[in-house]
Amino acid sequence: MRQALISDIHSNFEALQAVLADISSQNVDKLICLGDVVGYGPNPCECLETVMRRAELTIMGNHDQAALFDPDGFNPVALRAIYWTRDRLDAGSASVVNRRWDFLSELPKMHTQDKVMFVHGSPRDPTNEYVFPEFIYDKSKMDNIFSRVTQYCFQGHTHMPGVFTPDLEFIKPSQCDNVFPLGKEKLMVNVGSVGQPRDEDNRACYVILDHDAKKIFFRRVEYDFEATIKKIYSFSELDRMLGDRLRTGR
Ligand code: ZN
Repeated sequence: MRQALISDIHSNFEALQAVLADISSQNVDKLICLGDVVGYGPNPCECLETVMRRAELTIMGNHDQAALFDPDGFNPVALRAIYWTRDRLDAGSASVVNRRWDFLSELPKMHTQDKVMFVHGSPRDPTNEYVFPEFIYDKSKMDNIFSRVTQYCFQGHTHMPGVFTPDLEFIKPSQCDNVFPLGKEKLMVNVGSVGQPRDEDNRACYVILDHDAKKIFFRRVEYDFEATIKKIYSFSELDRMLGDRLRTGR
């Protein structure tokens, strides 16, 4: 079985479409979304409706939660974007609007299948905790986080793809030729971000988990970010910086 794991789409429809086209060429059986479908970008409704249709499992992200409830710890740029997102999700016929909010409000914060965990943030605080690459220098913190992992944990949230090992390494996709073998040791895998990469690579990022080959594959996909940037610039509620960063992938 091959599962495509996508995360942090952030209302970037151009990136999502490019990733879905790549997935359709990769013999994938199942699509799983690790959250943050909305927030920051210009196409929340299109992204949400696509994920609702295509993903077999979607996990709640902190921006998805912030669209539903009062945002917690958001900076002013993220806050303005999420209030604008709310208005967008509220536009349309009652049945369409209700379906969107029902879907968001029913998202699980965590899912486990056969010792594989799926979260947005971290195994100990599934929605909000960031596990940044530099955490490898904090052994007690990482030991605590790893103690919650049964075998493999897949996550997003930082928009920084890579693999954490229990002996405190963070292996970037470029350091393993975009392929990482799944062995007996526990792993935490950050699948990166579809719609707002922050590892200085402006291509959309996702992961394929191949259960038979016992490997994960990091995939990068080019997309028309200038089209997304143009849309972001056209809405005053979306800070121009949210567009500019797509160009540099930071
Ligand atoms: Zn995010």
